[in-house]
Amino acid sequence: MFLSIKEMEVRKVRFDETFQPGEIDFSDEQMRQSSPLHATGVAELLANTEGEVRIQGRLTVKLESECDRCLGRAEFPLDTRFDLFYRPVQSLSAAEEVAIDEGEAEMGFYEGAGMELEDILREQIVLLLPMQRVCSTDCKGICPVCGKNRNESACNCHEEPADDRWSALRKISQV
Ligand SMILES: [Zn+2]
Ligand SMILES: [Zn+2]
Repeated sequence: MFLSIKEMEVRKVRFDETFQPGEIDFSDEQMRQSSPLHATGVAELLANTEGEVRIQGRLTVKLESECDRCLGRAEFPLDTRFDLFYRPVQSLSAAEEVAIDEGEAEMGFYEGAGMELEDILREQIVLLLPMQRVCSTDCKGICPVCGKNRNESACNCHEEPADDRWSALRKISQV
């Protein structure tokens, strides 16, 4: 769905859209959309700004991937509200462009006549996905010795006792 600035000049643009799996490309081969993506909200042109747009709404979707530890299915149900601001890219002077720092990270930019809702949703979803993709925070993973899924059955393997010198080193590198 295209959110048109021209339309926003007349009225707030409301959206209530459903995207089936495959309609939005997350450019992430590990991640699959496992439920329809539903997004509702409103886009408005803010008064007394040079074309600043505010998009508020809510999205719900389920995604799934392989668990990083046990290779089973890891599910990520997302249900989130968003409140985003976009400025036209041509409003930026070169000096300002340099000045954009962390503090303005919440501000996005658009080019031309408006923006695609799909692009906005994709960006939000990618930001929300956890770095570590596990089926559950206490997933026991796969035994490095026998290859059994330790969530399903305990095995009798003894793990190599950790070498103290190495674990000390690891602690240092984590700081
Ligand atoms: Zn797992
Ligand atoms: Zn084992």
